[in-house]
Amino acid sequence: MNPTIKETQERIKKRELTPSDAVYSFLSRIRARNMETNAMLSVFEKAAGEITEIRRELPLFGSVFAIKDNILVKGEKCTAGSKILEHYVAPFDATVIEKIKEKGAVIIGKTNMDEFAMGSSTENSAFGPARNPHNLKKVPGGSSGGAAIGVADGMCNAALGSDTGGSIRQPAAFCGVVGMKPTYGTVSRSGVISMASSFDQVGPFAQTVEDAEIIFEAISGRDIKDSVTTDFLRKNRKSDKIRVGVPKEYFVKGIDQDIKEVIEKAISKIERKGIEVIEISLPHTEYALPTYEIIMASEVSANMARFDGMRYGMKIEKDVAKTIQDAYLENRGQGLGKEVKRRIILGTYTLSAGYYDAYYVKAQRVRSLIYKDMQDAFRQVDVLLTPTTPTLPFNIGEKIKDPLAMHLSDVFTVTANLAGLPAINLPCGKIKGLPVGAQVIAGRFREEILFAAAKKFEKIWQE
Ligand code: GLN
Repeated sequence: MNPTIKETQERIKKRELTPSDAVYSFLSRIRARNMETNAMLSVFEKAAGEITEIRRELPLFGSVFAIKDNILVKGEKCTAGSKILEHYVAPFDATVIEKIKEKGAVIIGKTNMDEFAMGSSTENSAFGPARNPHNLKKVPGGSSGGAAIGVADGMCNAALGSDTGGSIRQPAAFCGVVGMKPTYGTVSRSGVISMASSFDQVGPFAQTVEDAEIIFEAISGRDIKDSVTTDFLRKNRKSDKIRVGVPKEYFVKGIDQDIKEVIEKAISKIERKGIEVIEISLPHTEYALPTYEIIMASEVSANMARFDGMRYGMKIEKDVAKTIQDAYLENRGQGLGKEVKRRIILGTYTLSAGYYDAYYVKAQRVRSLIYKDMQDAFRQVDVLLTPTTPTLPFNIGEKIKDPLAMHLSDVFTVTANLAGLPAINLPCGKIKGLPVGAQVIAGRFREEILFAAAKKFEKIWQE
């Protein structure tokens, strides 16, 4: 079993393990497994040698992290899974990286991902698909697939990913680990390659809710380099009695029968332990995915404009382009993959003068309604409990030619991003050896209650 951060720290304190031993054992696991899973895009072989002192008072001392390849680690390549950034080297540390380093973590490498975090299977990576460690024919989920595999397959204690529409929670569900997306504005995005800026949040992958909470505390907080960040976390609610809401809309359409059964069983288990469960309604649920698609693509099209091959990364061969316009077209034409191009085209359309009101503005209005649904729900309950994904991990190649089917993977996760809410995936059962995940969602800045509830559920489901 892969040790948790807590267990590693205990073992180091008892002198059963040194931090460099821990790194060496993860490195050998990576060597043994990466050929099969393709989880890691780069491995920091020298990581063990960089441990100079062991400061046991630090919250992350002794822990070994893998980092999604859209988060900058100074002096290391940062590809975002794209050919256009294949040779790009990060000139500084992202704030989250500074923070985990300061708090004692060691970084062991960068993980595979869908290009620029666009995808649900890690098949859109320019560096080949990653594979689910529970069954190598299946996808690990995405876009942070490599990070989820790293934790599930014993390559690191924990990982950092990014979640724009579900890219932490969905791969966590498919790989059977804990994955958490914080409240929008609690974790800095400085040094994180943007996808859709009003949704993007960095969060932890871990083996337990306790570890995820330790990491969240280490990475959150106001950062002058990200103007939406704040220190405002509500710590005023006692968490001994938790009321759980189950949104009925999540169980009607688009969910596989076997997933539904596992989740319903998990819900009855917590009810049997005396936790109050109430059925609630989120009437705008069916609009969440189309609303996300429109706003996300609009923001993607704006964010992707900076990748022209001039400022960062790839440059085409000399003399291929006669004009600057040709150079942009060549760089972007050769450097970007299909899914990224599709979204740039869609987003450019939804932001265009003639269609802006019909699509972008309308979607923003629906976004407010979706947030209002959530506010109403959190007047009745403390947390929501839902499935994380509508299906089990699917076969590699099964959905890659059908972007709409692929996008349906996110149907239960995008709402938390649209409303800026914190949400966490935790494993709650298995079907034919493949993990099933449940999602817990809380109100904005209610991380405390989110973790408290998730710890309770985790304990009940493990019994
Ligand atoms: N799978 C979703 C998408 O393709 C979410 C991506 C993400 O969260 N980065 O947009």
